[in-house]
Amino acid sequence: MYTIPINKADSMKKKPLDSELTFGTKFTDHMFVVDYSVADGWHNPRIEPYGPLSLEPSTMVLHYGQAIFEGMKAYRRANGKIGIFRPRSYLARLNRSAERMCIPQIDEELVFQGLIKLLQLEQDWVPGSKETSLYIRPFIIATDPYLGVRPSHTYKFMIILSPVGAYYPEGFQPVKIMVTDKYVRAVRGGIGHVKTPGNYAASILAAEEAKKKGYTQVLWLDGVELKYIEEVGTMNIFFVIGDQVITPPLEGSILGGMTRESVLQVARKWGLDTVERRLSIDEVMEASHNGTLNEIFGTGTAAVVSPVNELNWRDEIIVPGNGGVGELSQKFYDYITGVQYGLLPDEFNWVVEL
Ligand SMILES: *Cc1c(COP(=O)(O)O)cnc(C)c1O
Repeated sequence: MYTIPINKADSMKKKPLDSELTFGTKFTDHMFVVDYSVADGWHNPRIEPYGPLSLEPSTMVLHYGQAIFEGMKAYRRANGKIGIFRPRSYLARLNRSAERMCIPQIDEELVFQGLIKLLQLEQDWVPGSKETSLYIRPFIIATDPYLGVRPSHTYKFMIILSPVGAYYPEGFQPVKIMVTDKYVRAVRGGIGHVKTPGNYAASILAAEEAKKKGYTQVLWLDGVELKYIEEVGTMNIFFVIGDQVITPPLEGSILGGMTRESVLQVARKWGLDTVERRLSIDEVMEASHNGTLNEIFGTGTAAVVSPVNELNWRDEIIVPGNGGVGELSQKFYDYITGVQYGLLPDEFNWVVEL
């Protein structure tokens, strides 16, 4: 057990009503913080009031983006308790990201205990209505005040918490996606497989252009041939062609999503024909033309499963299935959220209950 002191906030915020919740706009009263220095390693774990950081303008993360993050969720379960979905898998991924970004490994047990303690303190912030949850954002930033390029010698690890409603204003409704070959998101050997802010910064312009045309997000193609489907940038992507469930393989340019992994686990358990393989945009268009493109859906922690009812590729619009929520999209969504909210048995031991 680690000693994690709590410095309580003087006054607590008014909690939002469940019906007012959107995504990522409200934050709880406290945060968990750990510092890193070369001499002391990760040290001084503590819970503090949530509030502004004081950083020098020369702080390295502001200039070179040496930073990583995670995004997971805690749910109010049917029995009234709080459950966290696969926390240790997300924290292991944080350390995999750290390795690529030259950030020192952090003790997953320390972070896990800090998270539990923070959630116990903030438990009244976990909303209880349908489609709501407490979003958990662990992250690490490089904090040296220095303008040269090298790994920082000091870092801050933090966890902040945000009560959230549905990620897309549409809720569990189909979204429209635009395929781009004007921009690329990542290449193999780069940082596409890492949860790091730069990937998002690189994607914003394409997303804005897609939004102007009425699309919710961009579907990225591989950065070399501009031919193979990669991911959506906040979501991994699945296609149901005939009876086969297909998602692109993890070859270094795609983020290995926990929701992707969970869907694959469930699909295999259900005996569905499930493959991770390269899939070209041409193959998707052809499947649509010959009537075998039954479903498209995205997966990610924020929205869990997001059905896609329109794909635009070079101004040709295709609609999978009958354009509504696909049968498998609905089944995966119901199953995973059912386990998260404690309405279904936890066959894969995904949930840690407080
Ligand atoms: C986080 C993320 C996802 C989804 O991963 P989950 O673990 O399912 O939330 C997909 N793509 C990118 C680029 C991401 O950062």
